[in-house]
Amino acid sequence: MYDLKVPQSEISRQYEYAEKIRALSSGRKYTVVTLGCQMNVRDSETLEGWLKRCGFVPAQNREDADIIIYNTCCVRENAENKALGNVIWLKELKKDKPGLIIGVCGCMMQEEGISGQLKEKYPFIDLVFGTHNAYMFPEYLYRVIASSERVFEVWDIKGYVPEGLPAVRNSRINAFVNIMYGCNNFCSYCIVPYVRGRERSRDPEDILAECRSLKAAGFKEIMLLGQNVNSYMGGGTAFADLLKRVNDIGIERIRFMTSHPKDITRELIECFGTCEHLMPALHLPVQAGNNEILKRMNRSYTNEKYLETVSHLRKVRPDIGLTSDIIVGFPGETRQQFEDTLRLVRHVRFDSAYTFIYSPRKGTPAAKYDDPVSIEEKTAWIEELIALQQCITSEALSGQIGSIQNVLVENVSSRSALTVGGKTPRGLMVNFEGDGSLIGKTVKVKITAAGKNTLKGTMEE
Ligand code: SF4
Repeated sequence: MYDLKVPQSEISRQYEYAEKIRALSSGRKYTVVTLGCQMNVRDSETLEGWLKRCGFVPAQNREDADIIIYNTCCVRENAENKALGNVIWLKELKKDKPGLIIGVCGCMMQEEGISGQLKEKYPFIDLVFGTHNAYMFPEYLYRVIASSERVFEVWDIKGYVPEGLPAVRNSRINAFVNIMYGCNNFCSYCIVPYVRGRERSRDPEDILAECRSLKAAGFKEIMLLGQNVNSYMGGGTAFADLLKRVNDIGIERIRFMTSHPKDITRELIECFGTCEHLMPALHLPVQAGNNEILKRMNRSYTNEKYLETVSHLRKVRPDIGLTSDIIVGFPGETRQQFEDTLRLVRHVRFDSAYTFIYSPRKGTPAAKYDDPVSIEEKTAWIEELIALQQCITSEALSGQIGSIQNVLVENVSSRSALTVGGKTPRGLMVNFEGDGSLIGKTVKVKITAAGKNTLKGTMEE
């Protein structure tokens, strides 16, 4: 038995609570609001899975819901403000609907003092739980419903892995599969290790079983998820070996994220040349292009090492599309150091990059660093970076014109029932004429035009 797993008897107990709730209140409506990253999206799928087991059905909108759960993020200050702003708005809703159950969970709840503050200041909140005890959701909800109790339960870091939880998947085409939880890296600006705990990898057999069942259910693409998948080590299996085994299952497309540049191994890079289902796309957050800043970020790689990795990846898979995250205005960053980032971006030519102005997070080392650069200056820098990246993105997209791409169709456009959208293997979005019957199919599309962030094409007969 994998020693990190939550005992199966505990999970079974949660299913029993779900049944008890169903017996009490079947047919009520729910809304789950998700803020933050893919890990939170995946966690919300589990919350929805539990709600369905409890007999709830999705609400049309928040006003229509009998229970609203906010799954929060705390990576940036504005995500926290947004969560609090949203929750405060619910106070008015609850005045008109006193039976409404309001729950708040996710990373923000793991921050010191937050749960206590919510309990004291927001009496209309019924339920708060953290990331480490989220699998206990049915039991907490039962207490709220059966005894009208306010339940506030946030555990300190325990580091267990729950298996066998239900899920309502957001898509029938792409599925997220968590392979690990937590992070050991302690980048000096990041709060994740404090709220998500240390790395815990799932048992490879559980991951493979989940992937097989997704394939059997008709999913075409899976995204293997973790804060740093490169350091996956479940039952002694390294990430590259897990990837090869997932590849052997034969799901049409495999992607993974997030990948810390310091932990990307030669063997993992070689997978891009040998695993036929692994798509030629990699999100490789560089964060900064200057070695001194990287050191102060505690990123444990240099600009040179990052470029070496990029060059190795492109040797193995010349058509690989790289994307990245970049922080602008890290405390003490000088104009010259920022220019190193611009230089790196010009050199690597990412397909796209998420760019952020540094946002201090209480409790992290960087929050105590001197930060003499004004917000006006940081804003000017990020605008310069965005303009540069936009130009590179446009060139990357234009470079696709005339090519024929295998596009996995994912959706019908919200603007026209006769336009569908999907992704190329490299992860570029393509829109073209077609209808809903194409969803889930991979079709050949000739690229005819490039927009700011997406491509247009025509389907080949
Ligand atoms: S690798 Fe660094 S940035 Fe990513 S989650 Fe871990 S501490 Fe945060």
